[in-house]
Order: sequence, then C-alpha cells, then structure tokens
Amino acid sequence: MARLACYACGETVEAPASPRCSCGEPRWYETESTAVGDVADIEWPSDLDAGTWAFADLLPVDPPTDGLATASGGTPLVRTPALDDYAGAAVSIADEGRNPTGSFKDRGTAVGIEIALAEGNDAVGTVSHGNMAMSVAAHAAAADLECTVCVPNDISDERIRNIGRYDPRILRIDGEYGRLYYDAIEAGAERGIRFINSDSPGRVAGQKTTVLEALAQHRRRTGALPDAIVLPTSSGGHASGAYKGLAELRAAGLIDADSEPGAANAMPRLYLVQAAACAPIAEAATRGAETVDPVDPGETIAYSIANPEPPSGTRALYGARETGGTAIAVADDAIREAKRRLATAAGLTVEAASATSLAGARRLARDGEIGPDEDVICIATGSGFKESVGDPTDVRTETVSLEALPDAL
Ligand SMILES: *Cc1c(COP(=O)(O)O)cnc(C)c1O
Ligand SMILES: [Zn+2]
Repeated sequence: MARLACYACGETVEAPASPRCSCGEPRWYETESTAVGDVADIEWPSDLDAGTWAFADLLPVDPPTDGLATASGGTPLVRTPALDDYAGAAVSIADEGRNPTGSFKDRGTAVGIEIALAEGNDAVGTVSHGNMAMSVAAHAAAADLECTVCVPNDISDERIRNIGRYDPRILRIDGEYGRLYYDAIEAGAERGIRFINSDSPGRVAGQKTTVLEALAQHRRRTGALPDAIVLPTSSGGHASGAYKGLAELRAAGLIDADSEPGAANAMPRLYLVQAAACAPIAEAATRGAETVDPVDPGETIAYSIANPEPPSGTRALYGARETGGTAIAVADDAIREAKRRLATAAGLTVEAASATSLAGARRLARDGEIGPDEDVICIATGSGFKESVGDPTDVRTETVSLEALPDAL
C-alpha cells in the first residue's frame, strides 16, 4: 500500500491520510522503489510516448488504460537558440501548454483522479480560479466524477467560462482565499469530496514528471542533463514535485550529487521564479530564512503565480536549495518583455506566469548565477491561448484595398 511521508520531520503514514503532516508541513507520496531501498530499479524510460505515465514506476497508482488521464505529458522540449542572447545561456523551453487543458496541472490531476478512483471517491473538488480549476473539471468530467470548484467571488467572466465549459459545480466564495485552501480540504473530507488542491500528494507525484520528462528529453538530445531548470512558482506544489523527481534520480544514482558542475550527470540547479508583486518564497530566500511567511500581495499580470500564502512554499525553497538553486523575483515589465520575446523570437505563446521562467533565466544570467555556456530548461507552465491578459496592445496593422495590394506589399 502507498505511504505518505513528510520531508521535514520524516514521519510516514499509510495512505489514505491527511495531505498535511502533524508537524504542519505538506506530505508527499513515498516512491515505492526508494522506500524499500531498491533504487537500482529506476531507469530512464526508453519510450516517453506514455507522457505522465512513462514514469509509472515512480507514481503511487496504476496507469489508466484510456480516457483523458492518459493524455497528459509527452510535451515537447524545444531548443530555442533565438532566445540564447536574451537569456544569456543556452535555452530550451518545456512547452507545458501542450497539455489537454493547456498547463502542467493536467499531469497532477491525471494522477490525483486515478488515486481518487482507486480509493472509491465519486466526487472531487479543487480551490482555483485558473488552470487547476479547468484541469480538475475536465478530468472529472472525463472520469464521470462529480466536481466542485471553489473560486474567489471576484473572478473574471472569461475565467468562469473557461472553467464552466466542463460543467462542474462552481462555488463563488466570499471570504479569505488563503484559508479556503485548508477549509475546503477539511469540509470536503467530511462531505465525501476529495479536494485535489495545488500541492495535494497525488498532484505533486504527477507533477514531478514535468522535470523527469524534460531531463529525459534533454539527455536524449545532448547526452547530458541540463545545468539549470527555471520554474515559475506559486503554491510550491510543482516545485516540490520537481525536487522530488531530482531527489529520486539522485537516490537511484542517475544524478550524481558529487559530480563536478557541468558533468553529464551532475545535479541540475532548480531555480524558482515569482512575480515581484507577490513573492513570498523569493523574499524568504533573500532573507536567508528557512520558512516562507505570507505576504501582502500587489497586482501582477502573472495571476497564475500569485499565491501570497504558498502551502508548499517552505518545502519548495528547501528543495531548490538542496540542488544548489534558489528563488528569485522578476518585475511585471520583465515578464511582459519575456512573454513578447517568446512569441516574436521563438513563436511560442505562453501565459504571463510562464514567461517568468525566461525572465528569471535572464536575471540569473545577469547576476552570474547561470553561465553563458550553460544549458537551461525554462518550464513554460501554461499556454497563452486562453486569455488575453498581458498581450501586446501595439499590434501592427494596416488597412489596404485589394487593388492597392501589389503596391502595399
Ligand atoms: C499553477 C501554475 C503555476 C504555479 O504552480 P504551483 O504548483 O502553484 O507553484 C505556474 N504557472 C502556471 C501557468 C500555473 O497554472
Ligand atoms: Zn512532518
């Protein structure tokens, strides 16, 4: 049976159990092969076609045979030399916008939903006003599960429509959004609704495959692991998964923590990027603090990474530091410029939150954290095709009569 573990105090419990440890920190699934010490079993998959489930050996539930849950992952890692000068390093973009609902959240939802089904749940829920809400609603619809989505009352109509297309029950919550995360898990458990929130253990397990897959692709192309990974971060769920994946590879000997930097199997440094207007993890990093405290958020175009009270923030920062990385913040102007650069130089449409990865790589290179000859994977967490927030207003157009076309060209 699967077990849940706490990275902070080491306590383990048998699943199903609360997603939070008695010490207050979040739990994640023990990976069976590492839990029993049989780490030699972990290998790079020879075939990545199964997407998220190519890493089934490292996941806490059996793979589905059909349906939307089989459709996540398998996203391209695009080497983009046109962005190298801008970033100050050799850049590859992991295009997570290519998932079924347009973000990496589908990897975590796919695993979360399979666990819910395996444990006999017939209703799921989530607390989100964006990508996670769409992802959970879509996967619940495809698995024929009841779905409740809790959103803040002031959510935009555009987002309501994007979530509503999958026909979940949508509760507009009037109250403190940070507390909602905890209250929903507790009240949901009493009502038989399993909440798959941003850092729920099943989600973290699924989301570790973003980095595992990108590393496998990088290794296939170059024969080596990248030097750094840059990841837009909000709740810290994705970052926790990224670190867990790296730690599992290290435990299996596929990453050698003692290698010289630049060696083919050296530990890639994990850098977390936040928007300056809401950067609790980056602020803790700057302070040299071990724990992440809530902040008073300002406005940012990177709305998908604006959690002022990240439930896995402390774990995410711990993970980044364990790899030799850290957490930084970038301003909205830099995010806007990086988003535009991704489109105009590389043809990639990402949402503002995701452009923080490129903006972050540029900052890190300028600060000397990343060297000009280093290979960097920027995780483009979500597609920019869902909403127009942050898109350019100075689009170039001219009106030309058909007769005048030859002269106009
Ligand atoms: C959810 C999300 C993030 C942040 O992930 P966390 O696990 O909350 O840190 C980043 N980018 C996009 C596009 C997202 O949807
Ligand atoms: Zn603990």
